[in-house]
Amino acid sequence: MSAGEALVRLEGVTCAYGAGPVLAGADLEIGPRDFTGIVGPSGSGKTTLLRAVLGTVTPVAGTVWRRPGLRVGYVPQVETVNWSFPVTVAEAVLMSRTTGRRLPWPSAAERAEVASVLDRLGIGGLGGRHIRELSGGQQQRVFLARALLRRPQLLLLDEPTSGVDVRARHDILRLLTELNAGGLAVLLTTHDLNGMAAHLPHLVSLNTSVTGRGTPRQVLTPEVLERTYGAPMEVLEHGGMRVVVDPAVLVTPTGARAPISATSSGRDGR
Ligand code: ADP
Ligand code: MG
Repeated sequence: MSAGEALVRLEGVTCAYGAGPVLAGADLEIGPRDFTGIVGPSGSGKTTLLRAVLGTVTPVAGTVWRRPGLRVGYVPQVETVNWSFPVTVAEAVLMSRTTGRRLPWPSAAERAEVASVLDRLGIGGLGGRHIRELSGGQQQRVFLARALLRRPQLLLLDEPTSGVDVRARHDILRLLTELNAGGLAVLLTTHDLNGMAAHLPHLVSLNTSVTGRGTPRQVLTPEVLERTYGAPMEVLEHGGMRVVVDPAVLVTPTGARAPISATSSGRDGR
Protein backbone atom coordinates (compact mmCIF):
# COMPACT_ATOMS: atom_id res chain seq x y z
CA MET A 1 0.00 0.00 0.00
CA SER A 2 1.37 3.43 -0.85
CA ALA A 3 1.55 5.91 2.00
CA GLY A 4 -1.05 8.12 0.35
CA GLU A 5 -3.74 5.46 0.64
CA ALA A 6 -3.69 4.94 4.40
CA LEU A 7 -6.71 5.83 6.53
CA VAL A 8 -4.77 5.78 9.79
CA ARG A 9 -1.09 5.41 10.58
CA LEU A 10 0.41 4.89 14.03
CA GLU A 11 4.17 5.26 14.41
CA GLY A 12 5.96 4.32 17.62
CA VAL A 13 2.83 4.93 19.68
CA THR A 14 3.27 4.58 23.44
CA CYS A 15 0.34 5.06 25.82
CA ALA A 16 0.27 5.13 29.63
CA TYR A 17 -2.51 5.82 32.13
CA GLY A 18 -0.20 6.14 35.11
CA ALA A 19 3.17 4.62 35.79
CA GLY A 20 4.35 2.26 33.03
CA PRO A 21 3.33 2.07 29.39
CA VAL A 22 0.37 -0.21 28.58
CA LEU A 23 1.12 0.15 24.86
CA ALA A 24 4.73 0.59 23.75
CA GLY A 25 6.14 1.65 20.39
CA ALA A 26 3.22 0.41 18.31
CA ASP A 27 3.33 0.79 14.53
CA LEU A 28 0.10 0.17 12.65
CA GLU A 29 -1.17 1.22 9.25
CA ILE A 30 -4.80 0.77 8.24
CA GLY A 31 -5.74 0.93 4.58
CA PRO A 32 -9.19 1.46 3.02
CA ARG A 33 -9.95 -2.25 2.50
CA ASP A 34 -8.16 -3.76 5.47
CA PHE A 35 -9.78 -6.21 7.87
CA THR A 36 -7.47 -6.59 10.84
CA GLY A 37 -7.86 -8.34 14.17
CA ILE A 38 -5.83 -7.43 17.25
CA VAL A 39 -5.20 -10.40 19.53
CA GLY A 40 -3.55 -10.64 22.90
CA PRO A 41 -4.24 -11.54 26.52
CA SER A 42 -6.35 -9.46 28.86
CA GLY A 43 -4.54 -6.25 29.74
CA SER A 44 -2.21 -6.42 26.72
CA GLY A 45 -3.31 -3.01 25.42
CA LYS A 46 -5.92 -3.99 22.79
CA THR A 47 -8.58 -1.49 23.87
CA THR A 48 -5.92 1.18 24.34
CA LEU A 49 -4.71 0.62 20.77
CA LEU A 50 -8.29 1.07 19.47
CA ARG A 51 -8.63 4.23 21.56
CA ALA A 52 -5.37 5.56 20.13
CA VAL A 53 -6.71 4.98 16.60
CA LEU A 54 -10.01 6.65 17.57
CA GLY A 55 -8.24 9.53 19.30
CA THR A 56 -9.78 9.15 22.77
CA VAL A 57 -6.39 8.48 24.36
CA THR A 58 -3.39 10.70 23.68
CA PRO A 59 -0.07 8.88 23.28
CA VAL A 60 2.82 9.88 25.53
CA ALA A 61 5.16 9.18 22.60
CA GLY A 62 4.84 8.52 18.88
CA THR A 63 2.38 9.87 16.34
CA VAL A 64 -1.14 9.03 15.17
CA TRP A 65 -2.05 10.29 11.73
CA ARG A 66 -5.63 10.12 10.45
CA ARG A 67 -6.70 10.94 6.91
CA PRO A 68 -8.34 14.39 7.13
CA GLY A 69 -12.13 14.11 7.39
CA LEU A 70 -11.98 10.39 8.15
CA ARG A 71 -15.25 9.06 9.60
CA VAL A 72 -14.71 6.35 12.20
CA GLY A 73 -17.43 4.19 13.78
CA TYR A 74 -16.75 2.71 17.23
CA VAL A 75 -18.54 -0.30 18.69
CA PRO A 76 -17.66 -0.61 22.40
CA GLN A 77 -17.45 -3.87 24.28
CA VAL A 78 -21.04 -4.70 25.32
CA GLU A 79 -19.99 -5.43 28.91
CA THR A 80 -18.90 -1.79 29.35
CA VAL A 81 -22.33 -0.36 28.48
CA ASN A 82 -25.00 0.67 30.99
CA TRP A 83 -28.01 -1.30 29.75
CA SER A 84 -30.47 0.13 32.28
CA PHE A 85 -30.68 3.37 30.27
CA PRO A 86 -34.42 3.58 29.47
CA VAL A 87 -34.51 3.58 25.67
CA THR A 88 -35.79 1.35 22.91
CA VAL A 89 -33.58 -0.07 20.17
CA ALA A 90 -34.82 2.50 17.63
CA GLU A 91 -34.24 5.38 20.06
CA ALA A 92 -30.76 4.15 20.97
CA VAL A 93 -29.85 4.00 17.29
CA LEU A 94 -31.49 7.34 16.40
CA MET A 95 -29.59 9.09 19.19
CA SER A 96 -26.34 8.49 17.37
CA ARG A 97 -27.65 10.77 14.61
CA THR A 98 -29.71 13.34 16.49
CA THR A 99 -27.75 13.96 19.70
CA GLY A 100 -27.17 17.65 20.28
CA ARG A 101 -29.92 18.92 18.05
CA ARG A 102 -33.62 18.04 18.16
CA LEU A 103 -34.13 14.68 19.79
CA PRO A 104 -36.76 13.23 20.12
CA TRP A 105 -38.15 14.47 16.80
CA PRO A 106 -36.14 12.82 14.06
CA SER A 107 -37.17 13.38 10.45
CA ALA A 108 -39.04 10.77 8.43
CA ALA A 109 -35.87 10.26 6.38
CA GLU A 110 -33.86 9.54 9.54
CA ARG A 111 -36.47 7.06 10.76
CA ALA A 112 -36.42 5.30 7.40
CA GLU A 113 -32.64 5.15 7.44
CA VAL A 114 -32.62 3.64 10.94
CA ALA A 115 -35.24 1.07 9.90
CA SER A 116 -33.16 0.13 6.89
CA VAL A 117 -29.94 -0.28 8.90
CA LEU A 118 -31.75 -2.39 11.55
CA ASP A 119 -33.20 -4.56 8.77
CA ARG A 120 -29.80 -5.00 7.18
CA LEU A 121 -28.44 -6.18 10.55
CA GLY A 122 -31.31 -8.62 11.01
CA ILE A 123 -32.84 -6.82 14.00
CA GLY A 124 -35.54 -4.94 12.07
CA GLY A 125 -38.34 -6.36 14.22
CA LEU A 126 -36.77 -5.20 17.48
CA GLY A 127 -37.04 -1.40 17.10
CA GLY A 128 -39.64 -1.06 19.85
CA ARG A 129 -37.91 -3.34 22.37
CA HIS A 130 -36.04 -2.02 25.40
CA ILE A 131 -32.27 -2.43 24.88
CA ARG A 132 -32.05 -4.31 28.21
CA GLU A 133 -34.27 -7.12 26.87
CA LEU A 134 -31.88 -8.07 24.06
CA SER A 135 -29.42 -10.94 23.86
CA GLY A 136 -25.69 -10.17 23.76
CA GLY A 137 -25.60 -10.69 19.99
CA GLN A 138 -28.58 -8.36 19.46
CA GLN A 139 -27.07 -5.69 21.72
CA GLN A 140 -23.88 -5.95 19.70
CA ARG A 141 -25.86 -5.26 16.52
CA VAL A 142 -27.59 -2.23 18.06
CA PHE A 143 -24.17 -0.69 18.60
CA LEU A 144 -23.10 -1.73 15.15
CA ALA A 145 -26.21 0.06 13.76
CA ARG A 146 -25.28 3.20 15.70
CA ALA A 147 -21.77 3.09 14.29
CA LEU A 148 -22.94 2.44 10.69
CA LEU A 149 -25.32 5.42 10.72
CA ARG A 150 -22.25 7.65 10.87
CA ARG A 151 -21.37 6.22 7.44
CA PRO A 152 -17.84 5.38 8.57
CA GLN A 153 -14.91 4.53 6.32
CA LEU A 154 -13.30 2.72 9.25
CA LEU A 155 -15.14 0.60 11.79
CA LEU A 156 -13.54 -0.19 15.15
CA LEU A 157 -15.02 -2.97 17.29
CA ASP A 158 -13.87 -3.91 20.78
CA GLU A 159 -14.35 -7.64 21.45
CA PRO A 160 -17.44 -7.92 19.20
CA THR A 161 -17.97 -11.59 20.03
CA SER A 162 -17.48 -11.53 23.78
CA GLY A 163 -20.62 -12.59 25.61
CA VAL A 164 -22.40 -13.86 22.48
CA ASP A 165 -23.25 -17.44 21.55
CA VAL A 166 -21.71 -19.40 18.68
CA ARG A 167 -24.51 -18.59 16.24
CA ALA A 168 -24.34 -14.85 16.98
CA ARG A 169 -20.57 -14.98 16.62
CA HIS A 170 -20.95 -16.55 13.20
CA ASP A 171 -23.52 -13.89 12.19
CA ILE A 172 -21.29 -11.04 13.35
CA LEU A 173 -18.30 -12.43 11.49
CA ARG A 174 -20.32 -12.84 8.28
CA LEU A 175 -21.77 -9.35 8.60
CA LEU A 176 -18.34 -7.77 9.11
CA THR A 177 -16.98 -9.73 6.16
CA GLU A 178 -19.81 -8.36 3.97
CA LEU A 179 -19.28 -4.79 5.18
CA ASN A 180 -15.55 -5.13 4.47
CA ALA A 181 -16.25 -6.52 0.99
CA GLY A 182 -18.44 -3.43 0.45
CA GLY A 183 -15.44 -1.18 1.07
CA LEU A 184 -15.43 -0.58 4.83
CA ALA A 185 -12.12 -0.98 6.67
CA VAL A 186 -12.51 -3.01 9.88
CA LEU A 187 -10.23 -3.12 12.92
CA LEU A 188 -11.36 -5.25 15.83
CA THR A 189 -9.97 -6.73 19.01
CA THR A 190 -10.65 -10.29 20.03
CA HIS A 191 -9.42 -12.85 22.49
CA ASP A 192 -11.24 -15.56 20.54
CA LEU A 193 -8.40 -17.07 18.54
CA ASN A 194 -10.27 -19.98 16.96
CA GLY A 195 -13.78 -18.58 16.54
CA MET A 196 -12.74 -15.16 15.27
CA ALA A 197 -9.04 -14.45 14.72
CA ALA A 198 -8.37 -17.54 12.61
CA HIS A 199 -11.03 -16.38 10.10
CA LEU A 200 -9.66 -12.85 9.54
CA PRO A 201 -7.34 -11.91 6.67
CA HIS A 202 -4.81 -10.08 8.85
CA LEU A 203 -3.80 -10.19 12.52
CA VAL A 204 -1.66 -8.10 14.83
CA SER A 205 -0.66 -9.73 18.12
CA LEU A 206 -0.03 -7.59 21.14
CA ASN A 207 1.55 -7.88 24.54
CA THR A 208 2.12 -4.21 25.38
CA SER A 209 4.37 -4.19 22.28
CA VAL A 210 3.44 -5.69 18.92
CA THR A 211 4.63 -9.32 19.02
CA GLY A 212 3.62 -10.39 15.52
CA ARG A 213 1.64 -9.48 12.43
CA GLY A 214 0.49 -11.19 9.26
CA THR A 215 -2.00 -13.82 8.21
CA PRO A 216 -3.48 -16.20 10.84
CA ARG A 217 -1.04 -18.79 9.51
CA GLN A 218 1.86 -16.46 10.30
CA VAL A 219 0.60 -15.23 13.68
CA LEU A 220 -1.10 -18.30 15.16
CA THR A 221 2.17 -20.16 15.60
CA PRO A 222 3.61 -21.56 18.84
CA GLU A 223 6.47 -19.03 18.70
CA VAL A 224 4.37 -15.88 18.23
CA LEU A 225 1.71 -17.11 20.65
CA GLU A 226 4.23 -17.78 23.39
CA ARG A 227 5.67 -14.27 22.88
CA THR A 228 2.16 -12.90 23.09
CA TYR A 229 0.67 -14.92 25.95
CA GLY A 230 3.83 -15.74 27.89
CA ALA A 231 2.94 -19.41 27.98
CA PRO A 232 3.52 -22.30 25.61
CA MET A 233 0.51 -22.99 23.38
CA GLU A 234 -0.20 -25.87 21.11
CA VAL A 235 -1.36 -25.26 17.56
CA LEU A 236 -3.19 -28.02 15.71
CA GLU A 237 -4.08 -28.22 12.03
CA HIS A 238 -7.73 -28.94 11.36
CA GLY A 239 -9.52 -28.69 8.01
CA GLY A 240 -6.80 -26.43 6.62
CA MET A 241 -7.11 -24.05 9.59
CA ARG A 242 -5.04 -23.38 12.65
CA VAL A 243 -6.62 -24.38 15.96
CA VAL A 244 -5.01 -23.00 19.10
CA VAL A 245 -5.29 -25.03 22.28
CA ASP A 246 -5.92 -22.72 25.21
CA PRO A 247 -3.08 -23.26 27.69
CA ALA A 248 -5.00 -22.12 30.75
CA VAL A 249 -7.86 -24.56 30.68
CA LEU A 250 -8.87 -27.92 29.34
CA VAL A 251 -12.43 -29.05 28.85
CA THR A 252 -12.72 -32.34 30.69
CA PRO A 253 -15.03 -35.14 29.50
CA THR A 254 -17.66 -33.94 31.99
CA GLY A 255 -17.55 -30.47 30.49
CA ALA A 256 -15.97 -28.94 33.59
CA ARG A 257 -13.10 -26.53 33.02
CA ALA A 258 -9.95 -27.45 34.87
CA PRO A 259 -6.45 -26.00 35.00
CA ILE A 260 -4.22 -27.77 32.50
CA SER A 261 -1.65 -28.47 35.21
CA ALA A 262 -4.14 -30.65 37.05
CA THR A 263 -5.06 -32.81 34.06
CA SER A 264 -2.26 -32.93 31.56
CA SER A 265 0.75 -35.14 31.59
CA GLY A 266 4.07 -34.45 29.97
CA ARG A 267 3.60 -30.67 30.12
CA ASP A 268 4.87 -28.27 32.69
CA GLY A 269 1.36 -26.89 33.11
CA ARG A 270 2.28 -23.21 32.93
P1 ADP B 1 -6.98 -5.09 26.86
O1 ADP B 1 -8.06 -4.41 26.08
O2 ADP B 1 -6.00 -5.85 26.02
O3 ADP B 1 -7.52 -5.95 27.96
P2 ADP B 1 -6.44 -2.43 27.89
O4 ADP B 1 -5.94 -1.57 26.79
O5 ADP B 1 -7.86 -2.26 28.30
O6 ADP B 1 -6.10 -3.96 27.57
O7 ADP B 1 -5.57 -2.19 29.19
C1 ADP B 1 -4.16 -2.25 29.21
C2 ADP B 1 -3.70 -1.93 30.62
O8 ADP B 1 -4.05 -0.60 30.94
C3 ADP B 1 -4.33 -2.82 31.68
O9 ADP B 1 -3.35 -3.11 32.64
C4 ADP B 1 -5.40 -1.95 32.27
O10 ADP B 1 -5.62 -2.28 33.62
C5 ADP B 1 -4.82 -0.56 32.12
N1 ADP B 1 -5.87 0.47 31.93
C6 ADP B 1 -6.78 0.46 30.94
N2 ADP B 1 -7.58 1.55 31.01
C7 ADP B 1 -7.14 2.25 32.09
C8 ADP B 1 -7.54 3.49 32.71
N3 ADP B 1 -8.57 4.20 32.22
N4 ADP B 1 -6.86 3.89 33.80
C9 ADP B 1 -5.83 3.17 34.29
N5 ADP B 1 -5.39 2.01 33.76
C10 ADP B 1 -6.03 1.55 32.67
MG1 MG C 1 -10.10 -4.57 26.14
